[in-house]
Amino acid sequence: MASALTDRLSRLVKTMRGQARITESNVQDMLREVRMALLEADVALPVVRDFIARVKDKALGQEVVASLTPGQVLVSIVQKELAATMGEGVSDINLAVQPPAVILMAGLQGAGKTTTTAKLAKYLIEKRKKKVLTVSGDVYRPAAIEQLKTVTKQAGAEWFPSTPDQKPHDIAAAAIDYARKHYFDVLLVDTAGRLAIDELLMAEIKDLHALLHPVETLFVVDAMQGQDAINTAKAFKEALPLTGVVLTKLDGDSRGGAALSVRQVTGAPIKFAGVSEKIDGLEVFDADRHAGRVLGMGDIVALVEGVTKGLDVEAAQKLAEKMRSGTDFDLNDFLAQLSQMKKMGGLAGLMDNLPAEMTAKAGKPDMDKAERDMRRMEGIINSMTPLERRKPDLLKAKRKFRIAKGAGVQVQDVNRLLNQYEQMRDMMKKMKGGGLMKMMKQMGG
Ligand code: GDP
Repeated sequence: MASALTDRLSRLVKTMRGQARITESNVQDMLREVRMALLEADVALPVVRDFIARVKDKALGQEVVASLTPGQVLVSIVQKELAATMGEGVSDINLAVQPPAVILMAGLQGAGKTTTTAKLAKYLIEKRKKKVLTVSGDVYRPAAIEQLKTVTKQAGAEWFPSTPDQKPHDIAAAAIDYARKHYFDVLLVDTAGRLAIDELLMAEIKDLHALLHPVETLFVVDAMQGQDAINTAKAFKEALPLTGVVLTKLDGDSRGGAALSVRQVTGAPIKFAGVSEKIDGLEVFDADRHAGRVLGMGDIVALVEGVTKGLDVEAAQKLAEKMRSGTDFDLNDFLAQLSQMKKMGGLAGLMDNLPAEMTAKAGKPDMDKAERDMRRMEGIINSMTPLERRKPDLLKAKRKFRIAKGAGVQVQDVNRLLNQYEQMRDMMKKMKGGGLMKMMKQMGG
């Protein structure tokens, strides 16, 4: 399922080669695919609609860099917009208050609140060197208090006792008092969750919020919840000023579309992702990476990114201009092409990024060797004089011997390089200044 969009888009991408601009007509089919992918990933429908409208707005009229197709450019826009929607960069836990900093955990029963409380305790102890206290306000399930006690111990934090006959308000008041007196940096407050939203539960957690003035109010939500996540998020957002979201169970096979819905509804950044049941299964949320997962198309995006980031557009244009004006393609140009390839992450990087169906056709070349060859070729050209680079015809036996010695290679290596240079020169002549991508495509068959 994860590669479905990749396949569908690459098919569309092929039909759109040679179009220089993203237009109303060529964008429709692409957007339909993106919409399908988002729905498949369980993003809520209103969120999908909004998102598609924003992407269309950004995409229309976009120029398409010569070496890319409109499809590739659109994919890149989609991915960036998706990452931006889910939050840019990473946002860590805020502890910038007079200690103890209180973190209030909110969410439905089973979302992973208790587990996440312990994971956060461990994270704050190990990564932020904090003294951490946990407390459970879940007086409805005796097992919940015991569960927090157990996992808190595993995390290496201290647990503040509570019992089912107490009121959550009183428990919280006693815990904050204890935390102050014993110089804790952080107090993590686990709360009761119900299977569905109910008034009493919301009133109770609102009361806790008013009492504790938490610096962070984290909404914990199960990534497998899919479409329902939007309703849960709405209810919690109305009750509490949420400061962040923890998306749990991302180790499951959900595509994690809930991230998009929850982020849009709450407006709060997704701060952490739960990636296992274990106490160390917590990661700082990475929106860029998650965008790829939601769309199931990390491959193509990485390729497009590699191309737009790595290519020296100016150099490519200069070369194209040179070819048009009929000047010969010399060894300087050959070297420039080599370094362009290297910038794009080398051959290995490029091949890794290609969808499997493309690389399958080309066979599996020895990438380490390809990289080594490329470096050797650079070394040889760097051992030539400027004149030799401009006029490779000068390279007869004596000069070749000198160059080979300078570069620490055999004369055969120099000959091989000159052969490759000649091949590329002939190809360039035929293409009349087409760029690197064209050449790569030809090489790929
Ligand atoms: P709470 O009712 O919100 O406190 O939820 P719990 O912390 O008790 O978690 C409910 C279930 O989900 C437990 O079985 C946890 O082990 C499991 N769980 C929580 N977070 C994760 C996660 O990130 N990955 C996986 N696989 N399981 C998780």
